[in-house]
Amino acid sequence: MIHMCFRVCIFLFASVACFGQQGPALGESTRKYLSDLIRLDTSNPPGNETRVAMYLKQVVEAQGIACEVLGDDPKRLNFVARLKGTGEGGRPLLMMAHSDVVPVDRKQWTVEPFAALVKDGYMYGRGATDTKSLLAAELAVFLELKRSGVKLKRDVIFLSEADEEAGSLGIQWLIKNAYAKIDAEFAINEGGSAADTTSQTRVFQIQTSEKIPTRVVLTGRGTAGHGSLPRADNAVVHLARAITRLAEADQPVRLNTTTRRYLNEFAKLPEYQWLQPQLAKLESETTSQAAANQIREHETEMDAILRTTVSPTMLAAGMKINVIPNSAEAQVDVRRLPNETQQEVIARFRRIINDPAVDVMPAAGQEMPATEPSSLTTVLYKTMEKTFLASSKKPVVVPFMSRGATDGSFLRQKGMAVYGAPVFVRDGRESRSHGNDERIELENLARGAGLLWGIVTGVVR
Ligand SMILES: [Zn+2]
Repeated sequence: MIHMCFRVCIFLFASVACFGQQGPALGESTRKYLSDLIRLDTSNPPGNETRVAMYLKQVVEAQGIACEVLGDDPKRLNFVARLKGTGEGGRPLLMMAHSDVVPVDRKQWTVEPFAALVKDGYMYGRGATDTKSLLAAELAVFLELKRSGVKLKRDVIFLSEADEEAGSLGIQWLIKNAYAKIDAEFAINEGGSAADTTSQTRVFQIQTSEKIPTRVVLTGRGTAGHGSLPRADNAVVHLARAITRLAEADQPVRLNTTTRRYLNEFAKLPEYQWLQPQLAKLESETTSQAAANQIREHETEMDAILRTTVSPTMLAAGMKINVIPNSAEAQVDVRRLPNETQQEVIARFRRIINDPAVDVMPAAGQEMPATEPSSLTTVLYKTMEKTFLASSKKPVVVPFMSRGATDGSFLRQKGMAVYGAPVFVRDGRESRSHGNDERIELENLARGAGLLWGIVTGVVR
């Protein structure tokens, strides 16, 4: 507790010294906005994100800033506002956060999920971490830029998009129909994460890249027949063998600029000394898989950023106990490395399964785009790095590729640098994002808003 207090004092000092008087006021307004936003139920499905879009419109217009609600579904509108800058600092900065949340299983919650209840220093509610806290902080910073009359050297765009949690329809609609309204040099988005290690190092992970969710369908084929007569070409047996081969195979290791830097920085931490001898081995084709398997022994999460991963999740076969079906199907949740193409992955899976009786096909439908990690040398990345390093007693800042996907990958595909900003610290070991009793500590919320202010003003002033 003494340690915590020390850290808070450091922050208060930093916020007054570096950010003027915005610190405490920003914290209060962020708290108010988050409370209002949690009370607007935007569970997706169905979404109803227009509730958030209209709320933002009313708050932003009250400060005399022009804004727009736009989209093709009146119940699922997106929100865009812009503060004009001189342009001498460069192209715009985009602050974005999705307006929808995942649904709740009310029976599993001990508090009302859409009441923004405050208890023991925490605010509870769906969206408290994913990602209405970021949306509230961005709104507070955006309005404070206007109120304080800061001279902006570039435009600042504030976006809240619908449907991130289901099909990313909001961002795709905007890119197709209104890209000029959100086009920017770089963006601040969700997806970053900050957490304390056991040696009390605060690791700030700036998300610069994402794995690509790729659904793969395996279909075993054989001859139908009576269950009383076993057949060598039983479709269920072919499928079961294929699943086992695929799940047990080691997928190749491929690093990128982000994961390489990430591993190097972690290997310097006292709790990750075991990682050091594996680094060189990861770089050679002959030793990389063994090294990745060693890493998996210590931390499966770290192994999962080294290669494409395979999780069979759904099975369908047969309709009666005594009928051998002529086909059997499995769906596999594949998270592809962004530097591997879908064709490469499917071709490799076919080689691993090595059975002409099993079809391996990508599932039909929209795919997230493959993109290069966002640059580690932009003004925004450098400013984030500087801000996070100054914000904590023992900080480390690393770029990070997330296993999960966000709307950021659609903008990276357009050439925009997109960063998941780790302004909030993860609450304990496990995040409650998408879970029950989702919450954020109020002190964490206020500190995050202060950090965001430091980053944004560092880029636009
Ligand atoms: Zn989210």
